[in-house]
Amino acid sequence: MKATSNGAIGSAHHVLGHPGDNFISETAAKFGLKIGEKGPCEACVVSKIRKKNLKKISSNKSEIVGGRVFFDSSPIKNKSAGGSKYWILFVDEATGYKKSYFVKQKSEMSKIGEKYLLF
Ligand SMILES: [Zn+2]
Repeated sequence: MKATSNGAIGSAHHVLGHPGDNFISETAAKFGLKIGEKGPCEACVVSKIRKKNLKKISSNKSEIVGGRVFFDSSPIKNKSAGGSKYWILFVDEATGYKKSYFVKQKSEMSKIGEKYLLF
């Protein structure tokens, strides 16, 4: 392994499976390799990005029916008898009323949202 420039340590970082700088330094020292400074690795930066946490409980609960509706969807493991592949659930915050729908394609979900709102 040739390791004398930034590109070389970047290459070692990729080859070794994206370890931390200490691991690369210790490995290089053990094998008597000279390595330069490591620049930021795009793959590592992207993998450490996370979405902002959402509160599980709202402080201003809606008391109006339809004022705030939560929804979630997930794929169904096996196709239903009617050919649906996705499940979508709506929950009205004020009443706790729940309504489920099943759809064949993800593209139908927006129409199901409209259907729920007009319900
Ligand atoms: Zn990396």
